Amino acid sequence: MGSHVKGLRCRACGLDTDPIAAHVCTACFGPLEVVYDYDGMAAEVTREQIAAGPRSVWRYAPLLPELPGADPTARVDLQAGLTPLQPAPRLAAALGLRELWLKNDTTNPTWSFKDRVVTVALTVARQLGFDTAACVSTGNLAGSVAAHAASAGMDAVLLVPADLERAKIATSAVYEPTLIAVEGSYDDCNRLGAEAAGERGWAFVNVNVRPYYAEGSKTLGYEIAEQLGWRMPRHVVAPMASGSMLVKIDKALQELVTTGLVADEPWTVSGAQAAGCAPISTAFAAGSDEVEPVKADTIAKSLAIGTPADGPYAIDAVRRTGGWMQACTDEEIVSAMRLLARTEGIFGETAAGVTVACLQRAVAAGEMDPDEPTVAIISGQGLKTLDALTDTMGPSTTIRPSIVALEDALEDLFD
Ligand SMILES: *Cc1c(COP(=O)(O)O)cnc(C)c1O
Ligand SMILES: [Zn+2]
Repeated sequence: MGSHVKGLRCRACGLDTDPIAAHVCTACFGPLEVVYDYDGMAAEVTREQIAAGPRSVWRYAPLLPELPGADPTARVDLQAGLTPLQPAPRLAAALGLRELWLKNDTTNPTWSFKDRVVTVALTVARQLGFDTAACVSTGNLAGSVAAHAASAGMDAVLLVPADLERAKIATSAVYEPTLIAVEGSYDDCNRLGAEAAGERGWAFVNVNVRPYYAEGSKTLGYEIAEQLGWRMPRHVVAPMASGSMLVKIDKALQELVTTGLVADEPWTVSGAQAAGCAPISTAFAAGSDEVEPVKADTIAKSLAIGTPADGPYAIDAVRRTGGWMQACTDEEIVSAMRLLARTEGIFGETAAGVTVACLQRAVAAGEMDPDEPTVAIISGQGLKTLDALTDTMGPSTTIRPSIVALEDALEDLFD
């Protein structure tokens, strides 16, 4: 099994580059993307071979950007991926849908979908000769980079906004990276990261190795199709921060057709944002391709990117496939987190609340055919965003330790 990576190509002007650590085109500053030899890929990869592969994203190795000469035993691998795709009949009924599936990425090694992108980014970074992994993070990325770097004996340098949820700080710090809290927004961190990446010899996962990093999100699309019995999902709903995950799910489904792994049937991708940071959904609603930067203010901190790099590409994918975009309030996020928990037993983070709340909005607005099956991405774990719930959640009642008190309480609660 070899690598099918041909190199990097500018998404704006089409200029080709060797597969190096770079994310912008030297001619036009457009974003770079990994290009593959699809004929070679199609000739090699089969469903049987994938099914016999590792129980992680690496079962799709021939479709991922490992560089030529890759040693599978040298991967930076905590077994991300192959998370459950589970039917959600009770949530479907509550939303007015006939068939709903949840892609439960809360079960990843660091409890969010970011493990998919990080295992790919750090594997390629090591191949490129880096021994320090760095990132700018809204929370989940920091924890995932720290954990993967720790497992590989790499150094990690993480830039995060100082107002991050405490649990996201702790679940990054525990791996003992260099964790730098920046008194500013994610977008401030991002500007710093871009400057630092130019000066330091680090693999900045979402800056200079971003083209490889972003490809890890494709595994969501591959897994959904494989878990549906090698069929296309009809509709996929994804939360959007930079918009990259959504764009790569669509790319993955296209690649499954290109390589002959799955029969070509129409699908749609749809995007969910929090109203307090909805630059992509706002542009989409206005029928525009121009994503205007916003100042983020929402409890969905993992999605709080005011200048989303992949915004225009997300808009294109959603328009081209016939999907929708929505934005929901912070109150709707909390209600949707609770709805998901009480109907399906899954405790998702605020980003999961965004996905479910926006799906609810789309159904109510008549933008979803309720008879067609839908897959919603549950991208992170609720324990990391407990702050969003602690004001509203607590015991049903508190009693003295006596049977009389218990019986009185039950009577009050149920009769
Ligand atoms: C990062 C993140 C996303 C989406 O990220 P994109 O930048 O749009 O790829 C979604 N959910 C969670 C929980 C995240 O941490
Ligand atoms: Zn270019």
